[in-house]
Amino acid sequence: MTKAERAHKAAVASLGCALCFRIHGPHEPGPVELHHMRTGGWGKGDYRTLVPLCVNHHRGAEGIHHLGTKLWCREFGVTQEELLEWTLGRVNTYGADQHTREN
Ligand SMILES: [Zn+2]
Ligand SMILES: [Zn+2]
Repeated sequence: MTKAERAHKAAVASLGCALCFRIHGPHEPGPVELHHMRTGGWGKGDYRTLVPLCVNHHRGAEGIHHLGTKLWCREFGVTQEELLEWTLGRVNTYGADQHTREN
């Protein structure tokens, strides 16, 4: 694991659940697990596609792995891209890094 990757993961984990934030608004972040968003434009397994989700929204009864991505997104009226954007928008380590990668 690279230094950038470790820093990114720690920053993502400190945000709290991305979906809870969307549903309840700003609140004290609880413990999360890091979920890999897999969408067309993003590299598979890339750590920059990680989104923080609480256990319930990750593997629980309302979890993305329990419902499946499509149903989960429909259920909560959210797209993977939106959650990823939210996550990356809040992680400072992302900006500079992404420019180097994509330009
Ligand atoms: Zn949640
Ligand atoms: Zn997951």
